[in-house]
Amino acid sequence: MTNGTTRREFLGTLAAFSLFPLEHEKPDLLLHNGHIVTMNPAEPFAEAVAMARGRFFAVGKNADILNLAAPGVRKMDLAGKTVLPGFIDAHSHPADAGLMHLRMVDCDLRSISAIQAALRERAAKTPAGEWVLGFKYDDTKTEDGRPLSIADLDAAVPDHPVHIQHRGGHTSYSNSLAFRKAGIDEKTPDPPGGKIDRDPATGKLSGRVAESANTYFEKAIPHNFTRDDHREGVKLISKMLAKTGITSAHEAQGTPDDLRAYQDARDSGDLLFRAYCLINYRYIDAMIAAGTRTGLGDEWVRVGAMKLVCDGSISERTARLSAPYEGRPNDFGILVMTEEELYTYGRKAHLAGWQIGTHANGDVGIDTTLRVYERLQKESPRHDPRFRLEHCTIINDDLIARIKALGAIPTPFSTYVYYHGEKMRYYGAERLNHMFALRTFLDAGIRATQASDYPPGEFIPMMALQSEVTRTDTKGNVWGPKQKITVEEAIRVGTINGAYASYEENLKGSIEVGKLADLVVLGRDPLKENPSTLVTIPVERTMAGGRWTFES
Ligand SMILES: [Zn+2]
Repeated sequence: MTNGTTRREFLGTLAAFSLFPLEHEKPDLLLHNGHIVTMNPAEPFAEAVAMARGRFFAVGKNADILNLAAPGVRKMDLAGKTVLPGFIDAHSHPADAGLMHLRMVDCDLRSISAIQAALRERAAKTPAGEWVLGFKYDDTKTEDGRPLSIADLDAAVPDHPVHIQHRGGHTSYSNSLAFRKAGIDEKTPDPPGGKIDRDPATGKLSGRVAESANTYFEKAIPHNFTRDDHREGVKLISKMLAKTGITSAHEAQGTPDDLRAYQDARDSGDLLFRAYCLINYRYIDAMIAAGTRTGLGDEWVRVGAMKLVCDGSISERTARLSAPYEGRPNDFGILVMTEEELYTYGRKAHLAGWQIGTHANGDVGIDTTLRVYERLQKESPRHDPRFRLEHCTIINDDLIARIKALGAIPTPFSTYVYYHGEKMRYYGAERLNHMFALRTFLDAGIRATQASDYPPGEFIPMMALQSEVTRTDTKGNVWGPKQKITVEEAIRVGTINGAYASYEENLKGSIEVGKLADLVVLGRDPLKENPSTLVTIPVERTMAGGRWTFES
């Protein structure tokens, strides 16, 4: 024991040595002179940290950690910067988003003319007649105060079919050539469950279609992604996530293609975040037949829960509610799968040792999902099943008691209040106090996570902190102030709670000896920041497994 080493630090070092045989392990990197917020309750703050082979080797005071330095070891002076554990996004769609960013125009722009310019630029690089595709368009976020029209798109790109998906994913906007290629004209009737928008005066196509009418375009647009494209998509989104401090993401709607893409990207050195891959229920038979279950894999790519979908969406107002949407007295939203279907798939997965994650937004959707989980546990009790409630947006006291009793894990949208605040008025002020209900979850001892649902939601962890702490949107409107949490709680939600949701709380989520060396270095300290500027805190560096995945 060196001078100045406390007993606890010495024991911490012993723990490291018990994981790594002493004769083989020396730290290969030291970070010192930092303000390290560990999220380890036994040692909440530290000045320095040593890494060996991708894991934390020692955590403590500058002098003690620097004492561990053998000659030639890499040392970095953090100059007082704040370090947090790497962020874990517990519900996102990175593989799909990566492909979209690879092939499509990002239409998250603030004016119709900016969108037109971006489309024109892409068309100039695209052979005539081939599709120009866009995504992340949001009609509520352009300064024009009106949606994109078919004339806007024809003016920007006349010689290529243009098709743009709305950020929420349920509506799309196209130019005249795209409508012709999709086989739609003014006389085409609305398909069941869909709508082809027309000018009420002239009957001419407006450019927008909704819900099942999108399938006309889906059929007309060639989907020719190669295995390499999938890997490239993961590579691209890896860089985007790493830049914001994310070191792990739970892929919320994984397919075998996605699982392979993550493995391909890992093998080529392009995977910069750890992927916990939930598997769409349509593949569960094949996955079970192959002998796989939740947890298979390694610390970079792991098979996650089976994913089911119970009800609709919050941003596009199709979540199933017990009381109707504001101003729409007969609209209670929709249920996507029946309770019996959820049970049938759920039982199969539950008996085969799978974790289950069910998309459930509205209070009726959550109630239905909990009933299925309760039944599964009653009929076939399993130790520590960690049932997940994807989104789990609108809650009440009864649901909270049942979530607590089951030990279920909600993954509420982290950035919606800040980023999509203007869409929240459809829920009414009172209901907003029961939405994205982190205060209620944490007070009840429920381990809710940080979750973006990107692309529909933004994934920036600093935005999640601001959204959760202030419950305030970009225009200064406050939505559901009773659900505010503290910055420290928001960090916990975004780190160790995310690790728990994938059964990895002993592997990551805090800066602790023996855990994976995943961390983020920030330009300012979120614990001292004015909550209304948390989103502006710069991410300077991100590390996953002892390797810098982003350096500013
Ligand atoms: Zn999702």
